[in-house]
Amino acid sequence: MKTLVMKFGGTSVGGAPAILQAAAIVQEQVQAWEHLVVIVSAMRGVTDALIQGARTAASGDGQTYPALVTDLRVKHTLAVAELLSDTDERTALLKALDAYLDEFATFCRSVQVLGEVTPRAMDAISSLGERMNARIVAARLRQEGLRSEAVDATELIVTDRRFQQAAPLMDATRARTQARLLPLLEAGIIPVVTGFIGATEDGITTTLGRGGSDYSASILGAALDADEVWTWTDVDGVLTTDPRIVPDARVIPVLSYSEVGELAYFGAKVLHPKTISPVVERGIPLWVKNTFNPTCPGTRIVREPESTPGTVKAVSAIKGLSMVNVEGRGMMGVPGIAARTFAAVASQGASVLMISQASSEQSICFVIPTEAVAGVIAAIEEEMALELSRRDIDRVWAMDDVVIVTAIGAGMRGTPGVAARIFGALAQKQINVIAIAQGSSECSISLVVAADQATEAVRQLHAEVINGGE
Ligand code: ASP
Ligand code: MG
Repeated sequence: MKTLVMKFGGTSVGGAPAILQAAAIVQEQVQAWEHLVVIVSAMRGVTDALIQGARTAASGDGQTYPALVTDLRVKHTLAVAELLSDTDERTALLKALDAYLDEFATFCRSVQVLGEVTPRAMDAISSLGERMNARIVAARLRQEGLRSEAVDATELIVTDRRFQQAAPLMDATRARTQARLLPLLEAGIIPVVTGFIGATEDGITTTLGRGGSDYSASILGAALDADEVWTWTDVDGVLTTDPRIVPDARVIPVLSYSEVGELAYFGAKVLHPKTISPVVERGIPLWVKNTFNPTCPGTRIVREPESTPGTVKAVSAIKGLSMVNVEGRGMMGVPGIAARTFAAVASQGASVLMISQASSEQSICFVIPTEAVAGVIAAIEEEMALELSRRDIDRVWAMDDVVIVTAIGAGMRGTPGVAARIFGALAQKQINVIAIAQGSSECSISLVVAADQATEAVRQLHAEVINGGE
C-alpha cells in the first residue's frame, strides 16, 4: 500500500485529549503506508465562533468579536499547553496562533466599519480555524518524533470564485498538490493540511462550504491518486438511521458511492454531500471511522459493493421542508410549464429536494426548504400570471411542515416488492404518504410525510424494512 489520506473532523481534533488520540492514530498508520497525508478541521465550534464574530461585527456590534477572540485564545492556548512540552515549539506556535487571532480581530473591525461582510471576507475569516489547528496538530506530531509540517490548502486546492461554496478546479489542483506535497512525502514528512479551504487561481482564500473538510480529503486523495481516504469522526461509521430517532441504529459495513451519495444528500450528516465525486472516477475507497473507537472497522465506501437483492440499508429524514404544488387542468400537454416553473424556483436560489408529477399532468409538486417558500410562490405566480388569469393554472400553493423520508439501498434495484414492503409498513401505522419519488438509479425511494408522522415513519421503516428484511 502506498498513499493514505486521513481527515480528522472537528470533534476528532477538538481539544488536547482528542488531538492526542488523533496523533496516536497517525502513529499507528505510519509504518503501514509509504505516504501519509493528514487533513484537519478547525476545533469543534471554532468555525461557528469565527462566523458569529463576523456577523455580529457586520451588524455594528463591537463587543462580541473581542470576546470571541479571547475565548478562542484561551481554547487554543490551553490545548497547546497540554500538547507541547518543548518550549521553543510552544513559543513559536503561540506566536503563530496570536497572529491568526489578531487577523480575526482586524477583519472583524473592518467588517464593523464597513457594516457588511462579503462572502469573500467571510471566507478569509472562517478559514482561520483550520489554519490554527493544522499548526497545532503538526507540532504535536513533531513532538512525538514524527516529521510533520502544516500546509495551507490555499497552496493546493485551486477553486472557482464562488466564495463560501467554492468548487475545485481539479487539473490545477492536481498539479499544485503534487508539486507541493510529493517532495514532502518523499522526504518522509507528514503534511497536516487545512480542511475546508482553498484559493482562487490568483490566491484569494475560498471555502468549500460548511462541513467541507471531508470534501478536502477526497479532493486531495484524488489529486494524489491515494490508495485510500479515511475520514475520522465521532461515530462508528455510517449508521442505518439517526440514532436519536432509533437507538438500535447500526453501522453499515459497506456502501457504494451512489448509496452514500443519496444518504448524504438526504440528511445523514456523516459526510459532506460532495465528498464522493472526486474519488468516483479513480475508484478510491473511502472509510468512515470513529476516532474514539478506532478498533471498530467503520464503514467502507466503494464503487461496487456487494448488494443483496431487496435489501434496504438505511433510512433518513430531512425536516424543515414544504411542498409546493402548481395545479391546473389547463397544464395538460402544454410544453414548457415545468421548465418555467423550475426557472422561477431557480431565480430564488432555492434548491429542490424532490420533484413529482402525476402522469395526468394536472399538477407539479416539489419540495423545498420552508424558508424559500414565500419567494418561490411569488416568482411562480409572476411567471405564470397569464396562465393564472386564464385559469389554465388554478393555484400555486404550499403545504408546510413536511418531511422527506428516504429509504436507501442499491439492492432495491430491479427487485420487485421493495416499494410494497415500504408502503405496507407505513400503512400498518396509518402513516399517510403525501408524495413519492424514486430516483432512476433505483437506489432510493423518497416519501413525503407530515412532520408529526416523520419519527414514526423512520422507526417503522427501520423496524420492518431494514431489520425485518434481513
Ligand atoms: N470547520 C468547517 C466547518 O465547521 C469545516 C469542517 O468542519 O468540515 O464547517
Ligand atoms: Mg464534518
